[in-house]
Amino acid sequence: MAYSRAQRFVTSQALIRFHCTALPCYAVADFKSHITGSTLVGVGYGYWGVATQSMPLESGIVAGGLCAVSGMLPDLDSDSGIPLRETSMFAAAIAPMLMIDRFRELGLSHESMALAAMLVYVAIRFVGVEFFKRYTVHRGMWHSIPAAFSAGLLAYLVMPCSEESVRVYKSMAVLIGFLVHLTMDEIWSVDVGRGFRLKKSFGTALKFFGGNTLANVSVYAKLILLLYLAWADHDFSDRIRERNRLDQTYIAQPLGDSIDFKNLIPWR
Ligand SMILES: [Zn+2]
Repeated sequence: MAYSRAQRFVTSQALIRFHCTALPCYAVADFKSHITGSTLVGVGYGYWGVATQSMPLESGIVAGGLCAVSGMLPDLDSDSGIPLRETSMFAAAIAPMLMIDRFRELGLSHESMALAAMLVYVAIRFVGVEFFKRYTVHRGMWHSIPAAFSAGLLAYLVMPCSEESVRVYKSMAVLIGFLVHLTMDEIWSVDVGRGFRLKKSFGTALKFFGGNTLANVSVYAKLILLLYLAWADHDFSDRIRERNRLDQTYIAQPLGDSIDFKNLIPWR
């Protein structure tokens, strides 16, 4: 059936109207803008760390990458589409690699490490994704400042480092990437085209509390639990490190040139 141009225009207008009434019509920063924004900030953060905070180059690169990827994390709550799929796949692939130091600290053999990596992959890819699909709503409490700190603390927990400063630096990258996303969501909710009008979505990203009491309590409970775990982690790591040190076979080493054996053994 052939439609005239006028008919087609009317139909498309009706479709647009349907979309804007049936779904909340939020014009939010899309996936590409978020990735671009967090990557640019990540490059800056990596450079800042290496140039001024005397971080090793590879830590700077990892931190930059973490910041870029974390810019996708808040949109894990958008039940469908690119963010959930891409972010979960990327997180599932990258998390086991970042956890290598943790595995080593636990004294795992190479085979156990491979098995642990597989378990982490499956846990993120299937259990994690299912959790986000079921228990989060888009722009709920996962789009919030306490959630950003939780993501940072989680990164802190999975990536132990021999140096505390490097560990904090890398975890901060996750926090910053997350906050860049939230900030961009807020900026995009100001409608510049119609004289700085605020859209409905304004204030739903960079927030401390949401409308749902249960969600608020749950987010802060998780934040407190993660804070406790991060605080307790030092004791735990120290104990494991000490045990591993004691487990190592001791091989006697010569003391060096400081002892003059010729004078110590006069009968030779
Ligand atoms: Zn968002």
